[in-house]
Amino acid sequence: MEQRFLDHIGEGADDLYLRAVSQPLSFKIEQALNLLRLWEPSDGYYLAYSGGKDSGAILRLAQMACVKYEAWYNVTTLDSPELVRFVKNQGSAIHWNRTSESLLTKVVSVKGPPTRLNRWCCAIYKEMGGYGRVKILGVRAEESRTRKGNWKQVSYHRKTGKPIICPVLYWTDADIWSFHAQEKLPYCELYDQGFERLGCIGCPMSGAYGLVRDFNRWPRYEKLWKRAVIAHWDKWHGVPTRTGTVRWSDGWEDGEAFWRWWKSRKKKPNSNAGSLRQMELPGTGDDQSWDWIGEDSEDDGECQGQSLFV
Ligand code: SF4
Repeated sequence: MEQRFLDHIGEGADDLYLRAVSQPLSFKIEQALNLLRLWEPSDGYYLAYSGGKDSGAILRLAQMACVKYEAWYNVTTLDSPELVRFVKNQGSAIHWNRTSESLLTKVVSVKGPPTRLNRWCCAIYKEMGGYGRVKILGVRAEESRTRKGNWKQVSYHRKTGKPIICPVLYWTDADIWSFHAQEKLPYCELYDQGFERLGCIGCPMSGAYGLVRDFNRWPRYEKLWKRAVIAHWDKWHGVPTRTGTVRWSDGWEDGEAFWRWWKSRKKKPNSNAGSLRQMELPGTGDDQSWDWIGEDSEDDGECQGQSLFV
């Protein structure tokens, strides 16, 4: 059955969003199944599976909808051992997508450490694969204002024009966990240890508190990040960018200071960026170009939503 909210045309986006989020879980499940059946491509979906709770939900929905799909896990090289083990335990149902170079090797060789607004690594390590195919993503509007503003249940890849289906876009955390309980879905043990979201260890999206927590738990990853950030500074110190400008990492006297700043999540000292914090600094080197992000990215802002409800 098609679900259209045509009778609510005239409502503001916020009203529609609140209406969508406040639907009972049973309605959301039915709607998600309809959505997946309606948009099923002849070659099957590419289902982006990260091992997190939202991925578990979309995987189950695809099974319940009886649509054709392949679930792919992108190896970020910085996922926690617990998460990697959990994905491994899902067996052959999940395909693994690996890159030739680890994220931290790329930090050293070209890109430098990612920041909140220059998350170059997501496009390479989180969102690779499935180019030109119809995808299922576990994006949820509740997770950020950007997601709420940019994503729709059916969005389109900005380059290929292929549909991207987000069946749990308007699901809340409580919906996801209720669905897990209802369907007896397996989930990564880290959720029972206080982790609400799982991602790369050292991710710039984790604030200062999250970073300290992660590095305390997985100290080896802190050492690896530190080595990479300092090695990047050593390699590129004094080398101008392709356009002849000073490299952003040259704003620190040595690699140790660069590392301390990145780890602190604080604003850059003596920065032209004024009160902007680290995570808001634009990339200023030739290898830090914003334009580069989204080469094959469905990250926030890369997709154009077309409809709220289908
Ligand atoms: S989750 Fe964080 S560290 Fe991992 S690829 Fe995305 S931005 Fe980079």
